[in-house]
Amino acid sequence: MSSERCVHDLKYAGLVNIALGEEMVKVIEAWRCRRCGATKVGLRGPGTLTSTDGLLELLEPGDARWIVVIWRGKGAIPPGVLAVAAKPGDIVNVETPHEAESEFLVSSDYRLLRRSDVGEADYMRSYLLDDVLTGWIDLAEWPPKIISLRRQSG
Ligand SMILES: [Zn+2]
Repeated sequence: MSSERCVHDLKYAGLVNIALGEEMVKVIEAWRCRRCGATKVGLRGPGTLTSTDGLLELLEPGDARWIVVIWRGKGAIPPGVLAVAAKPGDIVNVETPHEAESEFLVSSDYRLLRRSDVGEADYMRSYLLDDVLTGWIDLAEWPPKIISLRRQSG
């Protein structure tokens, strides 16, 4: 990483809506620096009042990327969503209502896999934020339904 620090010039990059049927659960928003590509992400509930609520840390350019992690609900516990910044080989901690297991390995394609057998957990899905940005994720179905609002290019 350069020793010369970028004076970030953040530009709004878009959002992804996370819904449970007709109910809006969370909104993930992203801003990207026009100069260096650093990304800032916000994870908000639908009723957030101020613009700084739910803002996560700024991710400097490098191998780490923002990953959207989603897990199924269980009984009366609703499904959950998290945005984490991680790079392949990292161990990410995600608490879900499903299993004692809470540590997941980030694969080379930035998915979260069980450490025990390096497989995808049935109750969890993970996506690169860039792949789902400007879209819609519906948690009412499992696996979640991804609706991209991005215009197909060709
Ligand atoms: Zn920058």
